[in-house]
Amino acid sequence: MNHEASRSLYGRALSVLPGGVNSSVRAAPQPYPLFVERGDGGHVIDADGNRYIDWVQGLGPLLLGHDTPEPVQSAVQSRAAEGPMYGMPSEIEVEHAEFVCRHVPSVEMIRFVNSGTEATVSACRLARAVTERNKIVVMQGGYHGAQETTLVEGDADHPKPSTAGIPQSFAEHTIPIPFNDTDAAREVFEKHGDDIAAVLVEPVQANMGIVYPEDGYHEKLRTLTSRHGSLLIFDEVITGFRIGGLQCAQGKFDIDPDITTFGKIIGGGYPVGAIGGKTEYIEQFTPAGDVFQAGTFSGHPVTMAAGLETLKYCAEHDVHDHVNELGQQLREGLSDILADQAPEYTVVGTDSIFKVVFTRGEDGPQDDCCANGCRQDHSCSRYATCPKRGTDVKGAETDRYARLFRPQMIEEGVLVSQNQFESNFVSYGHTEEDVEETLEAYKSTL
Ligand code: PLP
Repeated sequence: MNHEASRSLYGRALSVLPGGVNSSVRAAPQPYPLFVERGDGGHVIDADGNRYIDWVQGLGPLLLGHDTPEPVQSAVQSRAAEGPMYGMPSEIEVEHAEFVCRHVPSVEMIRFVNSGTEATVSACRLARAVTERNKIVVMQGGYHGAQETTLVEGDADHPKPSTAGIPQSFAEHTIPIPFNDTDAAREVFEKHGDDIAAVLVEPVQANMGIVYPEDGYHEKLRTLTSRHGSLLIFDEVITGFRIGGLQCAQGKFDIDPDITTFGKIIGGGYPVGAIGGKTEYIEQFTPAGDVFQAGTFSGHPVTMAAGLETLKYCAEHDVHDHVNELGQQLREGLSDILADQAPEYTVVGTDSIFKVVFTRGEDGPQDDCCANGCRQDHSCSRYATCPKRGTDVKGAETDRYARLFRPQMIEEGVLVSQNQFESNFVSYGHTEEDVEETLEAYKSTL
């Protein structure tokens, strides 16, 4: 396969963009990233004209795939034709907010912003303001965007910034604990309960190899936060409108968070974020309350049109059934392949996200209970060694994935996530044929 145009573009990019990219993960592919020219359904075509089945799907926003259906397309185009934006309110923002409040169980009110990062920044500020406390509990290895409160590693007793540029004194207001560990959660509340403003957690850890919650884990977080007067913030930037359909993961797991952060699908492929939740909290944002929050581009009419029409299309068509069905075919097909070729590896994912984590060890294959993706099932013979939290995925064979597996998948015409930690995303543009070809590619590459 010829990649000369991508190579040459990367050469130019390295001179003018740090690392040749505008977001770090895009530079993960070895030896250089492919430059995309256009999308087409479940496929992308690169700068050299090569066509691939695309499971990256923009890192999650493209639930409908690269070809948006006619109503979405025409809503976006007519909005753009009416002028880019106004800096004044428009009806489409109200309509979109009404749709989300109708469908997502815990959301009574919502503030739209421009990225998932902006959403989690504002959610943390809001939680600190309403509780008059400083500490935010996060999950080790989780990702909530490029922001000061959450780019923190270490443990509850030794938090430290995970990047240059964040003062240690900021990191001391963040408490990283292991996901899926109820004892750790209980202990931090015993120790710091009166200082904890919120627990910020993804319902399914979808940025670190995909980790499913243990039965009862979120219920425990809900109980602890309520008991101690802290808020529970669900970060549904990835899971929102993908896991659990239009009611989101909180509906699937029947958990009632105080605040929810959104991004990705809620903007239909355009830059977006949002903070939703109980009126008593969301109404604390300015100008209704006194927690400052603002943005020139927030509620951008083109984004609002794309997001709302995408969600309406999902409400009226079999989008979630289609993507979840293909997701299941992929996970079950991968489980069969791993049983023969790499029994120590782990199939993870749910609904329309999937992944093979290159776990190490001598284990036999996952039992049938986890054939549709690891469910942290205590009866599974591999329960003890399957990843329980994102940080466990760091111990997997990340170099084999990056240097051997992914480049060979590209040669087979299949694009999987750019590193071992990100999810693969199924879209409405994918077909059963894409699934079959992808499984064949895994079979010959693993
Ligand atoms: N929260 C989660 C769970 C995410 O996965 C991401 C990005 O992938 C973010 C927040 C940040 O969103 P954005 O990249 O739009 O700033």
